Amino acid sequence: MRDTVLVVGAGLAGLSAATELARAGLPVLVVDQAQAVGGAIHRQPLPGVRSIASGAQKRRWAGVMAGVAAQGGRITLALGTRFGGVDHTGAVLLTGAMNRLIRPRALALALGARESVQPRPGWTLPGVETAGSLQTRLKTLAEAPAGRVLLAGSGPLLLALGAELVKLGRPPLAILEAGRPFARPLAALRLPRSYWAEAATYLTRLRLARVPILTGTHLTAIRAEGGALVAEATGGRRLTADHIALHDGIRSNDIGLPDCATLPVVRLGDCREALGARAALADGRAGGAALAARLLGRPEPAPDAELARQRAAQALLAQLYAHDGAARLADLPGDTVICRCEARTVNDLRALGPSPRARQLRLDGRFAMGPCQGRFCGDWVARLAAADNPGPDTPTPGIGAPRWPARPIAVADLLAATDETEGETR
Ligand SMILES: Cc1cc2nc3c(=O)[nH]c(=O)nc-3n(C[C@H](O)[C@H](O)[C@H](O)COP(=O)(O)OP(=O)(O)OC[C@H]3O[C@@H](n4cnc5c(N)ncnc54)[C@H](O)[C@@H]3O)c2cc1C
Repeated sequence: MRDTVLVVGAGLAGLSAATELARAGLPVLVVDQAQAVGGAIHRQPLPGVRSIASGAQKRRWAGVMAGVAAQGGRITLALGTRFGGVDHTGAVLLTGAMNRLIRPRALALALGARESVQPRPGWTLPGVETAGSLQTRLKTLAEAPAGRVLLAGSGPLLLALGAELVKLGRPPLAILEAGRPFARPLAALRLPRSYWAEAATYLTRLRLARVPILTGTHLTAIRAEGGALVAEATGGRRLTADHIALHDGIRSNDIGLPDCATLPVVRLGDCREALGARAALADGRAGGAALAARLLGRPEPAPDAELARQRAAQALLAQLYAHDGAARLADLPGDTVICRCEARTVNDLRALGPSPRARQLRLDGRFAMGPCQGRFCGDWVARLAAADNPGPDTPTPGIGAPRWPARPIAVADLLAATDETEGETR
């Protein structure tokens, strides 16, 4: 393994990086915790299920896979295998199908993005899920849940998901969008043409299916009533649905990721900077080529200009979708759950006193201590705690602090891991 570059994540960034590394002559091991390649956007249907991906998406993914195939045996793929962490000696723990401790030549982390969902009263009720989880169901099973589906929150993913539901013949009841993305058409004209084309496809499909898109509308609370879910929104709106999918943007999936002084470690794609699929592809290619050059002592290639273009486009999108939803956190009722893993509420947070430190939040409050390690609650806990503690010691539970392992792992996995680092030193 000492000659092998380990790439974690078999999405756009990971596989395009693996291709560049292999093209430079380096052996590459790609691991992914999922049972199939594709990552978030190119998640593949289960065997025997038809794909709901668009023609453009299929062509892009076919291009990525052709690049991998062209490298033949230089790229090894291990699915169902999770990256657990890297220690100070450069030993990497993998769990799952390939359960072992290895010492690769370099590590490329392409772990994608995590979905952000703002806590609201009732957001943990049965029937409420994240838009990403609903999209996974559509992509893998080509099947929409029975009954009325309401999409709410903010961001372009809601339009994409709504259009996918229409494609499956199950238009959503409505889309509640907190921002007002269509309010500044002149500013929106500065978006790249590919963004327009994608948005036009979604909007046409949604309009033809007469799906109401209510912009400037916040979903403030969800209640279970008579076997259904009642969504309360700003403007006095009440909608009754059977399923609600929430989404408030995406962030880099970089919580707890370590650096290592004895091993070159790079982050790629959404894991480095959440800029979307086009940037992930460009970043994977450029990052893979740069890492290969560094390892082989060759001059590093110039940065890819596509990344700067995508960064500007995403910044403009963020402006178009801007809204004041986060300010509503301060008004949450005390019994609102913030940490889903450990069912910790706003009141539990307040009970820690006016200026809780990160250690207090974690050890006394149990925030960011569950299986997600703060991937869901960390940002919101930090914001709420920061309102009382706006100094440099603003607590950011679960965020920023590298740790080993990067997420909870079973002791059995640790014991069963084959140690391939024995006798190897760096
Ligand atoms: C829920 C969700 C839905 C999205 N839907 C869309 C969409 O419809 N349209 C769109 O344009 N963009 C969408 N995006 C954004 C888009 O997914 C990304 O821009 C793009 O897929 C990023 O590619 P990537 O290779 O960086 O990451 P990804 O494609 O996310 O790939 C990351 C891979 O890393 C793996 N991984 C993560 N942690 C570990 C670990 N510890 N060990 C092993 N493997 C691990 C994951 O299983 C995944 O396969 C979505 C993002 C999210 C979070």
